[in-house]
Amino acid sequence: MRTLIVTLLLLSAIAASAQTKIPAPADVLGFTPGDDRKLASWSQVVDYFQRLDQASDRVTFETLGQTTMGQPFVMATISSPANLAHLDDFRKVQDQLADPRKLGPIATRDRKAAELIRQGKTIVLITCGIHSTEVGSYLSSMLIAHRLASSNEPAIQKILDNTIILLVPSLNPDGVDIVKNWYDKTLGTPFEGTDPPELYHKYTGHDNNRDWYAFTQVETQLTVDKIHNVWHPQIVHDIHQQGSFGSRLFLPPYMAPVEPNVPKAIVQGYTELGNWMAAQMRTQGFQGITTDSTYDAWTPSRAYSHYHGGVRVLSETASARIASPMTLKFDELRSREGYDPQKESPNFGPVWRGGEWKLSDITKYMTTAAFLLLDHAAANREQWLQRFYAIGKGAVRTRRPGELFGYLVEPSENQHFLLSTLAKGGVEFTRPKEGTNFKLGTRALPSGTVLIRMDQPYGAFAKALLEVQHYPNLRDAEGHPIAPYDVTAHTLSLLMGVAVRPVKAPFRYSPGITSGSDLSLIEESFSLTDEPPPAIYHSAVPANDEGWTRWIFDSRKMPYGVLGDKELRAGITFYKPSAGVTIKYFTIIIPDQPARTILEGYRAGSMPPELTGGLGEKGVNTLRDFVEQGGTLICLNRASNFAIEQFKLPLRNVVAGLPRTEFYVPGSILRIKLDGTYPLTFESPEDTIAWAEDSPVFEVTNDPNASVPASNVHVIATYPVDKDPLLSGWLLGGDLIKGKAALVEVEMGKGRVILFGFRPQYRAQSRATYPLFFNALTSK
Ligand SMILES: [Zn+2]
Repeated sequence: MRTLIVTLLLLSAIAASAQTKIPAPADVLGFTPGDDRKLASWSQVVDYFQRLDQASDRVTFETLGQTTMGQPFVMATISSPANLAHLDDFRKVQDQLADPRKLGPIATRDRKAAELIRQGKTIVLITCGIHSTEVGSYLSSMLIAHRLASSNEPAIQKILDNTIILLVPSLNPDGVDIVKNWYDKTLGTPFEGTDPPELYHKYTGHDNNRDWYAFTQVETQLTVDKIHNVWHPQIVHDIHQQGSFGSRLFLPPYMAPVEPNVPKAIVQGYTELGNWMAAQMRTQGFQGITTDSTYDAWTPSRAYSHYHGGVRVLSETASARIASPMTLKFDELRSREGYDPQKESPNFGPVWRGGEWKLSDITKYMTTAAFLLLDHAAANREQWLQRFYAIGKGAVRTRRPGELFGYLVEPSENQHFLLSTLAKGGVEFTRPKEGTNFKLGTRALPSGTVLIRMDQPYGAFAKALLEVQHYPNLRDAEGHPIAPYDVTAHTLSLLMGVAVRPVKAPFRYSPGITSGSDLSLIEESFSLTDEPPPAIYHSAVPANDEGWTRWIFDSRKMPYGVLGDKELRAGITFYKPSAGVTIKYFTIIIPDQPARTILEGYRAGSMPPELTGGLGEKGVNTLRDFVEQGGTLICLNRASNFAIEQFKLPLRNVVAGLPRTEFYVPGSILRIKLDGTYPLTFESPEDTIAWAEDSPVFEVTNDPNASVPASNVHVIATYPVDKDPLLSGWLLGGDLIKGKAALVEVEMGKGRVILFGFRPQYRAQSRATYPLFFNALTSK
């Protein structure tokens, strides 16, 4: 008896010591993720995962590369020790199921696939923290990893045995510290809980989650090259936070529209999984859950996996004030697209009655949802793999006569860049046999034309980016247009000015070389001859377009300056060179931002005083002097309204203030015509595109109160009179803009103001209009 007790004590001591070896987040951070007013730094997060890796045989942790600002970009792989010992084998299973051509002759593929499905695991990628003010998810990543590493519950064992979890604690590590530094600095001040006054990704801010087909940023590239394209996850759980005043949690299905190239099996997969998670959480007593609302599945810019065999399960938990609690009254809750948080409905409920909402609520919703997702992935392992194989099989099937066979991509300035971008997304190209050209009928296409066949694993990804988008004309019960969640067009060939031709099956050619990944996305350096560098206006209120502009310059190694509100209010003037005068800048760019934000900035009292007030009257005067003394001011998109209003230019924005029922262009590709007599249009074809998104449309006026006569205005680009201005996306009220100006230059004193009524360098994608933008920096 005594021996038995000793043995039992010994056994429990061994078990206890095995348990204590796994560090809890609090052991490393000094607090538990979810505690009020506590944020972890990125080095603490990395430290925690390193210790977990050392302590647990269920976790391996690696650095995949470096972020934009030089931090480690990391991933933990979590599964049973037996699975972790055979990761290469599981990768091979994935690789063959993703591309059934690798399974050999068609007749035997299903049989081979069945064997692989029996062996394989559900691959689940969990991504946190792409939006750094949404702090709950990177904190939750440590809670999720700890439970998976330490728990011996049967449910956790089942997850570890049946899934391989790829956990990315943050898709934007730089932002973790940007937000923490600001939060800690303002803690206990009236500005506690505010968003930091800088982009939380150095170049793209919130748009870092709009980069999943253009792949411009290193974080996107690392995720795609080293995770997605290596593992082809069946499920991607992307954990976000939304505003504070709507539902407590959004889960899929997404609201309409779904982009037509997303396979039906993907839609079924996220619908089944999201609805099941929501139902389970409701059963457990969670309130305020919505599905099928607010977030659509239209753009590949947020959903790489939808075109690569995996479902994306976006979750959006309501935010607090960064890490500070808040109290919401029931009647403060506000409707969003598709539901009213004050009313129970088929896709919303049960109603949350308001009250305190804090970080631990956020981490509780997030971790609960994540473990339910993992339960489903484990319990339905075979169905997930079966679905994955079915998607791959559908993608590579032989196209029937009359079906789309592929696209011919003609040679042009940006052809290489377009192909490189698609190659990053796993797309293969075919070049004709040496000495031959592709033919359409009897006509030979120019040498250098490349074929992208649809019968390849990621043909649908290519198709989505090469065809035009016909965004559906969605209206609510009152007939008002329903806003898309983001933008409505993603035709990369139009954005890059590359001609493509669809061809139908059967299409005959002499097969040559098929290739994919041997192309690179490195930008060529660009020099502005001997001109002094331009300056970019940097509002205290962060603007994504300002970041993108810096990225375009930095990636080309182009020098530039940055001018803030403070410098411009201080009244620095800029002179043409003359004896004894130092030139600073000839050109200032004001990126896309609302006119009022540029002028007024943060409201007094909403942020520390040194950040409020915008350009103000003094800044406007400095800019006016700058132009009158010979400078060039370039205003992009909405910033043009600022110049028209503040400099009293003889121009009117004809779509200003129009209700959406009359005019609406929420991110679309339009056609414009250039007047080739202006140097600004050098290297651009007469017919080109404009990325329009809340864009002004100009008309020259004869306003007697204008600061300069109408004859000082030169119209460089117009919307065509005789054609629908819409090329891709959604446009309401197109007739209103026919014949109106999209790009003008206004002489003012010795200088000029160039107004772009569109975004010529939209998210570093609209290469077709880069020449207009670059010429504006240099040409006179
Ligand atoms: Zn987000």
